[in-house]
Amino acid sequence: MKTSPETSQLLKVLPNDDILQQCIHCGMCLATCPTYDLTKLERSSPRGRIRMIRSVARNEMELSELFAEEMNFCLDCQACETACPAGVKYGRMVEAARVLIDEAGLTPKFQVFIKRFALRKIIASRFWLKFFSRLLWLYQKSGMQKLIRATGILKLFSKNLPEIEKLSPPIANHFSDSKIKEIELPNGEIKFKTAFHFGCLMNTMFADINIDTIDVLKKVGCKIITPKDQVCCGSLMAHNGDMEFALNLARKNIDVFFKYDYDFLISNSAGCGAFMKDYAHLLEDDSEYASKAKLFSSKVKDIMEFFAEQKSELNFQSISKLELKPELEIITYHDACHLVHAQKISSQPREVIKSIPGVKYIELEEASWCCGSAGIYNVVRYDDAIIQLQRKMKNIRNTGAKIVLTGNPGCMGQIKYGAEKFDVDVEVLHPVTLIKKLLS
Ligand code: SF4
Ligand code: SF4
Repeated sequence: MKTSPETSQLLKVLPNDDILQQCIHCGMCLATCPTYDLTKLERSSPRGRIRMIRSVARNEMELSELFAEEMNFCLDCQACETACPAGVKYGRMVEAARVLIDEAGLTPKFQVFIKRFALRKIIASRFWLKFFSRLLWLYQKSGMQKLIRATGILKLFSKNLPEIEKLSPPIANHFSDSKIKEIELPNGEIKFKTAFHFGCLMNTMFADINIDTIDVLKKVGCKIITPKDQVCCGSLMAHNGDMEFALNLARKNIDVFFKYDYDFLISNSAGCGAFMKDYAHLLEDDSEYASKAKLFSSKVKDIMEFFAEQKSELNFQSISKLELKPELEIITYHDACHLVHAQKISSQPREVIKSIPGVKYIELEEASWCCGSAGIYNVVRYDDAIIQLQRKMKNIRNTGAKIVLTGNPGCMGQIKYGAEKFDVDVEVLHPVTLIKKLLS
């Protein structure tokens, strides 16, 4: 096959073109695709995008703005992978295509700024992420936020900025890595040797969930190693076309965790867990890291996956202990895309939640439909994301639940914002927060 320099690059990222042959064009994925559902255009469907990627790889189609737009319009939710009978790894293709789009200068400037500055310089740096989180905390607590909102000044910069500003969750006044010791021990016998990846956003913006996670792990008999020099998992960078940067973070994490003896590496963030499970595949051609990555990934467990496997260790008290109003005992669950589609974890969280005595569990319609958060999608494509969020909030409202549980920081922030924007009376919690309150 004749390939242009750009095409070679696409194949290098993929890393061969077998993956492009797998799609049998059956269309089974179409009904699950949020962007196809919006436009009903073939090019906005997984099948259409795969055709375009294959055409670009074969030099039959130019790298164009239309191609870039369709790749960026995709939420990378991977619902199409769950629906696909041929096992097509669509997510790898679209992420490879985004690398190419970036290198060809076809990514919108705002997105480039977010990727190169926010993701590389802030999210990937513990120091700068903490620094900016502190500034955000000050902004929220000092009254400045109220003032800025009241003046409507942000509208002068961009029509969506006042809404994007509201996406930030309330920042805790502490970071979890300063509260969690490098080695935490259970009160009784050590039943499991675990390690913990505390994430970047979870560490700074959802610090209490990390602390709850450690408390619950201790209660079920885990020794927990939390290396202080661990780094961001790299998922946000990889999903946004910055794969080399992401892989360097992966190598650093492998080196850091390799120094310790543990059986399970626990993650409470769906996006981080999914990406760390994928290190094995992503580094399979790296002679120095391939076998270490395989071992590293084999130990990664989402916290709810771990709890479902160790359910006999979870000794729940009835939810009535919390003395909630009866309607607060009605609980529903939203599947984070990177848990249900990327990690295929769907029954496990439900099993655990339903085993809590007294919980009235209501299944959420379209529970695995993306909420629109999708990494940084809700920031860089606010108008498209809000359509998905509105649909999600309508379904949540219809359950009558007053608590919605979900296992990813992006989804939590997005649904909290949605509850306010669309006036849905619901509290958004990570399952581990509820579990902590109810374990005896
Ligand atoms: S990842 Fe999601 S939005 Fe993208 S093509 Fe697949 S189903 Fe559609
Ligand atoms: S991606 Fe899978 S489900 Fe979609 S058209 Fe191709 S083979 Fe069928």
